[in-house]
Amino acid sequence: MIRRSILRRLEVNCKEISRIASQAMDRPLTLRERISVWMHLGICDPCRQFVAQLRLLRAVLKQQSRHAENDSNVVLSNSAREVIREALHQHLH
Ligand SMILES: [Zn+2]
Repeated sequence: MIRRSILRRLEVNCKEISRIASQAMDRPLTLRERISVWMHLGICDPCRQFVAQLRLLRAVLKQQSRHAENDSNVVLSNSAREVIREALHQHLH
């Protein structure tokens, strides 16, 4: 009974996952958020693919910004953000 209500509180929908995933770019996730994402990804294929894409994108961007240490860095990360926002938008519609 108690356990079920805890699980219920950790239950999130696809929209919520997209929101959390995009916030993960700006700040570390709380334990609760990480558990929620982990639980949701266990049951939702589209979100699993979406998060995998997002991770891949982030890894690529991280590599790029390491190469572009100087002034182009800011521009790059701004356009990167646009790409990610677009991906989020498509995921939600
Ligand atoms: Zn989902």
